[in-house]
Amino acid sequence: MLEEHLKKKLQSIVGEENYQDSKTSLLSYSYDATPGFQSLPDAVISPRNKHEVADIVKLCNQHNIPIVPRGSGTNLSAGTTPLYGGIVLLMKHFNKILEIDEENLTVRTQPGVITQTIIEAVEEKGFFYPPDPSSMKISQIGGNINENSGGLRGLKYGVTRDYVMGLEVVLPNGEIIKTGGKLAKDVAGYDLTRLFVGSEGTLGIVTEATLKLIPKPETKKTMLVLYQNLDAAAKSVSAIIANRIIPATLEFLDQPTLKAVEDFAQIGLPTDVKAVLIIEQDGPIEIVEQDMDRIAKICKENQAIEVTLAKSSEDAEALTTARRAALSALARLRPTTILEDATVPRSEIAKMVSAIEEIARRNQVTICTFGHAGDGNLHPTCLTDIRDKQEMERVEKAFEEIFHKAIELGGTITGEHGVGAMKLPYLHLKVGEAGIDLMRNIKLAFDPNSIMNPGKVFTDINRKRVVVQK
Ligand SMILES: Cc1cc2nc3c(=O)[nH]c(=O)nc-3n(C[C@H](O)[C@H](O)[C@H](O)COP(=O)(O)OP(=O)(O)OC[C@H]3O[C@@H](n4cnc5c(N)ncnc54)[C@H](O)[C@@H]3O)c2cc1C
Repeated sequence: MLEEHLKKKLQSIVGEENYQDSKTSLLSYSYDATPGFQSLPDAVISPRNKHEVADIVKLCNQHNIPIVPRGSGTNLSAGTTPLYGGIVLLMKHFNKILEIDEENLTVRTQPGVITQTIIEAVEEKGFFYPPDPSSMKISQIGGNINENSGGLRGLKYGVTRDYVMGLEVVLPNGEIIKTGGKLAKDVAGYDLTRLFVGSEGTLGIVTEATLKLIPKPETKKTMLVLYQNLDAAAKSVSAIIANRIIPATLEFLDQPTLKAVEDFAQIGLPTDVKAVLIIEQDGPIEIVEQDMDRIAKICKENQAIEVTLAKSSEDAEALTTARRAALSALARLRPTTILEDATVPRSEIAKMVSAIEEIARRNQVTICTFGHAGDGNLHPTCLTDIRDKQEMERVEKAFEEIFHKAIELGGTITGEHGVGAMKLPYLHLKVGEAGIDLMRNIKLAFDPNSIMNPGKVFTDINRKRVVVQK
């Protein structure tokens, strides 16, 4: 609990109705979608505008109170667990799309808008906002920006970073800055917009974003390809891209994931095959048809046993929706689901898939794998039970080996879920100690008192641990 005088001041900024510190609300915001991390905040505060955010931040900076900005809490790296107590800053009042600019092809939005709401709003006007994380029905755009989230369409269209043109941010000292804007070109100084994207709430609070739109593709087609051999599916991915075809979506599901998804979604997916690819192409109809023909041929040359084109847009939608449900489907099987996102260059996907299988077998843990194969971004997902200490040790060891393997293949420890508190022990594998030092200095230049989301991305330097409850 915060001291009474601080509580009073915060209530006077946001109004009593936007200040919560009952046991239930503190408990509700003590965790996110990441298993194994839980810690109570001292208060949960919902500012109504950027000026209130600035006033809160100034007060917190003065009294060294941690601030954990929170969207929908769906991140998978313990990015919103209040490890040092302090306040959870909810962005629920920042829920408006402010402008769709048809001349500049931009959408200006508040950070608390649900990703899918933005996608649907711009599609109604014939535009396209491609980043589509599987969580898009619940995640907020502010969370996507701070995690630099990817999605099923990342292969062809890129990730959130590629669509953020400008931001309004409240800095840890309470100043409000604007970066970038509707400009197609802008090289005035360092690219602060890119620095904030993926900064996991550690540098400031995003209060507005300008996002790039593109014209909505004319048409799209979706294909399901079946394999009796994991390696053949992975090799097809590399072969498609090596043949200079960039599908909009190229997703991979192994058999255990497929079984769980079919059990959950019941759309008639085959469960007797070892792996499937879900492939989508969009664009002008002639190009889409030509690409799909070529992709089908390449898959067959790489031992696909069946290639089926979705007959209707409903069938196509069912396939991609089923893929988006993979994590939820797997989460039903055992008490704890730990999903990782080791990523390798696309050419190494086959090696990574077999390495994950071998690591799981050797460590006697259950790992199901699915993911954005076209991006080299796999989601090895461990089905386990956090209460079983011995099994958890084997799980940790298996994931450590997976990270090392990804790095050995030229990859990274996280492709889209961020470092948060979860992958912090492995960050040096990717960026080295010198890289971490540089990032830390950047963080301190923004946030010398380390009030913004402490304990995320790297171990905290300035902050004495105040409240840690696990
Ligand atoms: C079922 C499921 C499927 C998923 N699929 C994908 C996927 O396909 N691709 C993918 O990339 N991720 C995926 N994720 C992970 C997650 O949904 C994304 O990381 C998403 O961007 C988080 O959004 P959120 O609103 O829940 O943010 P939160 O989890 O609340 O926050 C994420 C981070 O952003 C910070 N933050 C939030 N809002 C602000 C703000 N306004 N200013 C400053 N910092 C802020 C937080 O402090 C935190 O560090 C999935 C998660 C689940 C549960």
